[in-house]
Amino acid sequence: TVGAIGYGSYEIYNKRHPLEQKPFDPKKRTVVVLGSGWGAVSFLKSINTDDYNVMVVSPRNYFLFTPLLPSCTVGTIELRSIMEPIRFITQHKTRNVKFYESECTDIDPESKTISITDVSDIKGSVSNTTIPYDYLVMAIGADNQTFGMAGVREYACFLKEVWDAQKIRTRLMDCVESAGFAKQAPEEVDRLLHMVVVGGGPTGVEYAAELHDFLKDDLEVWYPELADKFKITLVEALPNVLPMFSSQLIQYTESTFKQNKIEVLTKTMVKEVADKEIKVMDANKNLVSIPYGLLVWATGNCPRPLTRKLMARVKEAQTSPRGILVDDYMRVAGAPDIYAIGDCTFSKYAPTAQVATQQGLYLASVFENLARMEDGQNKKITPFEYSHQGSLAYIGSDKAIADLPFLNGNVSVGGVATYVFWRSVYISNMFSFRNRFLVVGDWMKSKVFGRDVSR
Ligand code: FAD
Ligand code: MG
Ligand code: MG
Ligand code: MG
Ligand code: MG
Repeated sequence: TVGAIGYGSYEIYNKRHPLEQKPFDPKKRTVVVLGSGWGAVSFLKSINTDDYNVMVVSPRNYFLFTPLLPSCTVGTIELRSIMEPIRFITQHKTRNVKFYESECTDIDPESKTISITDVSDIKGSVSNTTIPYDYLVMAIGADNQTFGMAGVREYACFLKEVWDAQKIRTRLMDCVESAGFAKQAPEEVDRLLHMVVVGGGPTGVEYAAELHDFLKDDLEVWYPELADKFKITLVEALPNVLPMFSSQLIQYTESTFKQNKIEVLTKTMVKEVADKEIKVMDANKNLVSIPYGLLVWATGNCPRPLTRKLMARVKEAQTSPRGILVDDYMRVAGAPDIYAIGDCTFSKYAPTAQVATQQGLYLASVFENLARMEDGQNKKITPFEYSHQGSLAYIGSDKAIADLPFLNGNVSVGGVATYVFWRSVYISNMFSFRNRFLVVGDWMKSKVFGRDVSR
């Protein structure tokens, strides 16, 4: 056992040591996976490593449970609780998958090689190299959409990665403390305590909801002199928030936000972003300036540079600027032996973890069937079919909304019971017992002690 060869006595190390796992076999074909997010991890959890040598390349050596990221911006949950080291997944049981913490910077479908670069702060003498693949699985997700607007990257905070949540949490407390600074000018207090969210999709809505809870539960208690100055505004270009939900739940969300004094400005387009204010075109086509202390930008996805590079290499087959075109078997159009799943693809489905997970699972089964067919077994490869399990969102003050497909119809529910359901669904979808344990612990901790208001 691992203990016997001196690798610690923790349960976690049981059967996880590379010496107990199958070595790389030159006779097997190599599958290189790009990414360590939802799509990649779902694929890795079910790929049969008896059939293939598997290798993962990602600049992040952990998986991030994104649905609970908005809760980390205000400290309801701590970031480390929703991160899972990738090696817990790549070295699980007899699975033996190599991991390189690096970014893939180019893909050459002709020579079937990829270029990888160590993008971390600390590097060794080798930080660029190429590796060959037999099959490539692209699961690199997407970039933040800025519509090319100047100032967004400079002044706004995104909400996609660990460092985004950290930045928001720090800036939020920075704004509050500066607003409370001795003899602060009243209009500056109003500006600093104005939290503006751009984008009325699930990320923007859930973030505004978490922020509201933090103001009500914690900040108003610790900063009573500022309590009536806090303001949250959500800016959305479309006529309503959460377009993927039923109209009943959209109304329920908008009325809950009204009760919670979150101002929702619909049909409002951001035109300019500066360091202390944004300029918007409001519903009546007037140009209005909105001063802010904290600006969070959640307006959706656009392709990453590597995605664009690959599309340009096979541009006859790649005709959509919005993402990689794949066929019903997740094969990249124009690039044989490359598969793509999740947010980096242009597909008929919404860019969600739910879709990426199902595609990852599906692709692992395709690889399994291919191997069995080579063994001479009679197998058939059927196209990918998405099965929608429903949409859920947290909307603040212990209320959530859910649109669930149910007995050929749809059920739309909202309220406190839905919130309990929302929590249980997220908990049961967490990848490991360890994550579940940590998140439940954080929820209990913030109930008992309140959220941590230190910067
Ligand atoms: P990701 O999970 O983003 O993974 C991409 C991976 O690729 C990352 O590990 C990244 O580091 C890596 N990578 C990037 N560039 C390179 C490169 N050049 N080379 C190698 N690796 C690279 N979906 C839901 O279904 N339900 C929800 O409740 C939900 N809530 C969300 C809340 C937030 C705040 C956010 C941001 C998203 C939410 N989503 C939700 C959407 C969901 O997170 C995405 O759809 C999902 O992450 C897509 O999976 P993916 O594998 O395509 O990309
Ligand atoms: Mg991924
Ligand atoms: Mg992820
Ligand atoms: Mg390094
Ligand atoms: Mg300050």
